[in-house]
Amino acid sequence: MRKVRLAVLALALAAAGAVLLSCAPATRPTPAQAKAFLDQAEAHLLDLANESSQASWVQATYITPDTEALAAKASERFIQATMEYAKQAARFDGLDLPPDVARKLRLLKVSLSLAAPADPKESAELTQLNTRMEGVYGKGRYCPAGVTDLAKCLSIEDVTRMHSTSRDPKQLLEVWRGWRTISPPMRGDYRRFVELANKGARELGFPDTGALWRSKYDLPPEEFAREVNRLWTQVKPLYESLHAYVRWKLKAKYGDAVPAGGPIPAHLLGNPWAQSWDNIYDLLAPRDADPGFDLTQILKSRRVDEKQMVRYGEQFFTSLGFAPLPPTFWTRSQFTRPRDREVVCHASAWDVDNVDDLRIKMCIEITGEEFSVVHHELGHNFYQRAYNQQPFLFRESAHDGFHEAVGDTIALSITPEYLVQLGFLAKPTDPAKDTGLLLRRALEKVAFLPFGLLIDQWRWQVFAGEVAPERYNQAWWELVRKYQGVAPPVERTENDFDPGAKYHVPANVPYTRYFLAHILQFQFHKALARKAGCQAPLHRCSIYGSREAGRALEAMLAMGASKPWPDALEALTGSRQMDAGPMLEYFAPLRAWLEQQNEGKPVGW
Ligand SMILES: [Zn+2]
Repeated sequence: MRKVRLAVLALALAAAGAVLLSCAPATRPTPAQAKAFLDQAEAHLLDLANESSQASWVQATYITPDTEALAAKASERFIQATMEYAKQAARFDGLDLPPDVARKLRLLKVSLSLAAPADPKESAELTQLNTRMEGVYGKGRYCPAGVTDLAKCLSIEDVTRMHSTSRDPKQLLEVWRGWRTISPPMRGDYRRFVELANKGARELGFPDTGALWRSKYDLPPEEFAREVNRLWTQVKPLYESLHAYVRWKLKAKYGDAVPAGGPIPAHLLGNPWAQSWDNIYDLLAPRDADPGFDLTQILKSRRVDEKQMVRYGEQFFTSLGFAPLPPTFWTRSQFTRPRDREVVCHASAWDVDNVDDLRIKMCIEITGEEFSVVHHELGHNFYQRAYNQQPFLFRESAHDGFHEAVGDTIALSITPEYLVQLGFLAKPTDPAKDTGLLLRRALEKVAFLPFGLLIDQWRWQVFAGEVAPERYNQAWWELVRKYQGVAPPVERTENDFDPGAKYHVPANVPYTRYFLAHILQFQFHKALARKAGCQAPLHRCSIYGSREAGRALEAMLAMGASKPWPDALEALTGSRQMDAGPMLEYFAPLRAWLEQQNEGKPVGW
């Protein structure tokens, strides 16, 4: 996750935009005026963005009513200005403009993820709905029957931990159902939220909010939807193999609770949303093909501390030729949970001044998983710094999936060979045991794909009015079943609001970016591995220490959003199309193994 400057939660709160619009000159503006408009907008927005980042940083690392109020005010100012400029940009429509000017005007219009109506009452109502839904989620606790002390009720962290560690189906069912008791109160709010958000989107010239989201990808919205579907079609057979294997292994463990040929019950997959399944690796591990090392144990036995985890991440990037992180990164970041105050622990990466005030905010735990998370967050930071020479509106990734993919790409290079280079392993593990490595990774990355897809498939339909509020929950489970092959373990009705039990729905964070990032990271990894001269199977390639790969990566990152994303993709990979081929290649040995295991067993649902 990244602290997003323009892309997320943009709400305009006042009617100022409408007033300015009505002042637009009646005569046709000139290209020079368009450029002057952008110069002014960029300078103003940069100023407001920095102010908002500073306030948000303080709020996230020291939560009090005062810091919340200050952060909200600063963010309001930034958002309101963005909305005004986005509306004003329309007056240059149809002019013959230099490509970079035309591109900036377009980016301004699609930068919002939530456009508020000009009517001040409606705009204020939309803000309140958004804040309230996020608050309901944030404060959401499941209080088991008989528990009256709120402190003993379960937070999402508790629920997540139980899903990951418990193997008791009764207990899993209880927490699964329990967490979903937090979201029914959002249902009415969400319905009204959709109405108002769509009104705002229409004022910007989009048919609905889903179309606004799909317009961020340098393609007509309907073509982008087809692209997403094409990528899913590419990876679906691999997902189905994994799903079939997991289903029969779970059936062996849990018996009749798991059907032989139907969808898998959602509570048994090791995660509250069944979005990644690596937590149940222990139930699925191949016999005689376990890699035989545990990064968590290695880190702990070497007494690696939180800062040192980050030093390892930085060292990966500097080995590629990137400059070290600035000294302020080390003094201003939050690496551990403070003892004396409330903070937001959810990992994020920041560029507070939009130049080089880079920071991460985490509460690092010494685990192999967090070792990867550190690389993920630093990927954002090195991207942010690489494009800091661009004009303000281009200080963004090529598309939002790129930003999420970069750090994960680097983390794919955490191979046994790399761990040997770090001195963590005495010698690389036996390639004959790679099945375990690949299975664990597939449970994280391949299992995620349909989930990464379906959240926005649901929201696109909801925003477009194809799913009426009376069918919110039913439509959700139809998509979960269709894409994930997963089913609710107990009956759900329209009294429930299960989409609201996932943070990104009440918080209104678009989600397709994560689907795209999961595919792109393998495409990037393959291109970089080849540049680094690695001819081994992709899962055994690490680009650590390759200046050649580093140069290619930095060249793409430095482009920021200055060019349509296919140009950036081409610069690194030689291809103008997103392609799941490299992901399939990476997992090909696992796929062959899965198909052997699945022989005679049902596949699909
Ligand atoms: Zn991220």
